[in-house]
Amino acid sequence: MNISITKNTCPKEKPDSSVLGFGKYFTDHMFMMDYNNEEGWHDARIVPFANLSLHPASTVLHYGSEIFEGLKAYRRKDGKVQLFRPMENIRRMNSSAERLCLPQLPEEETLEALKTFVRLEQDWTPSAPGTSLYLRPFMFGNDETLGVHAVHNATFVIIASPVGSYYKEGINPVKIMIEDQDVRAVRGGTGYAKCGGNYAASNRAGERAEKQGYSQVLWLDGVERKYIEEVGAMNVMFKINGEIVTPMLSGSILPGITRKSCLEVLRKEGYKVSERLLSIDELEAAMENGTLEEAWGCGTAAVVSPIGELCYKGVKHQVSGGNIGEITQHLYDTLTGIQWGNIEDTFGWTLPIE
Ligand SMILES: *Cc1c(COP(=O)(O)O)cnc(C)c1O
Repeated sequence: MNISITKNTCPKEKPDSSVLGFGKYFTDHMFMMDYNNEEGWHDARIVPFANLSLHPASTVLHYGSEIFEGLKAYRRKDGKVQLFRPMENIRRMNSSAERLCLPQLPEEETLEALKTFVRLEQDWTPSAPGTSLYLRPFMFGNDETLGVHAVHNATFVIIASPVGSYYKEGINPVKIMIEDQDVRAVRGGTGYAKCGGNYAASNRAGERAEKQGYSQVLWLDGVERKYIEEVGAMNVMFKINGEIVTPMLSGSILPGITRKSCLEVLRKEGYKVSERLLSIDELEAAMENGTLEEAWGCGTAAVVSPIGELCYKGVKHQVSGGNIGEITQHLYDTLTGIQWGNIEDTFGWTLPIE
């Protein structure tokens, strides 16, 4: 892939790491390339960060053909910047693309493009504890017609945003509302794809939960409303009577890379880990008889997020006494240790940007 680079002649001032938050500031450049059926992917370029110009009939604006990814570049103590399992994101994007009838990305070349982009923007990677450079690759259908069909034109973009520590005041357990009205996804639908439409459909339940003081919702399956699926933007894990349980990937759950990494760490260390169906009845019973020892969400943004309270049909259950559990803390320490390069990466997950 030949990438043309147009440097931004008016670079911005970098914000202080204390004001970063999430996704508020953007770097000086973005990566873009276009697709059409005749040429395939073409015109790969890094250009100054700017608004996109879209035809008002562009497919994405009407029919929601959009997929995205989220990963981070981490600044190590020695100053080098590294990525965490970036090929997993590229492969998942291709799986999402297949579901939404968007074109496949060439995997190795896309990784090279990502590395070239991060190398150019690496000074934007903050170094304060817990901060990182969030990378947001996304792809959308961009046909200039209102006809409904698989797209012939698509655009792929990568933008980058320096983000603050998810836990500014230490790891605080979150309160989660178990959603019993809306559903996020069904098997055969787009639940396993990282697509914008899933989020659009989730917002109503999220808003309702927030109004009642909960930070996210826990989704039940869309057919029987019986089996635990995942939390808003995170997968979910429980420790019940010594067994670590996470819902199996049934097609309606997003296959998280943090989820996969947690499972690999736990299995390597000999823990009993099950990917299986977990019903709300089983979870409720475990909450009532005290065998629910820990619960946590896992995703790139927070890494691991302890759950201190679960509310189902108006009944509140405290988890781990409202504190962070032992396994939750261990996973957090292990994954963040590898990501920021403070402990040895025996898994081969990190990719330094040379
Ligand atoms: C991105 C995402 C996750 C977490 O995936 P990671 O690869 O671990 O960041 C979980 N659930 C949903 C719905 C997501 O969009």
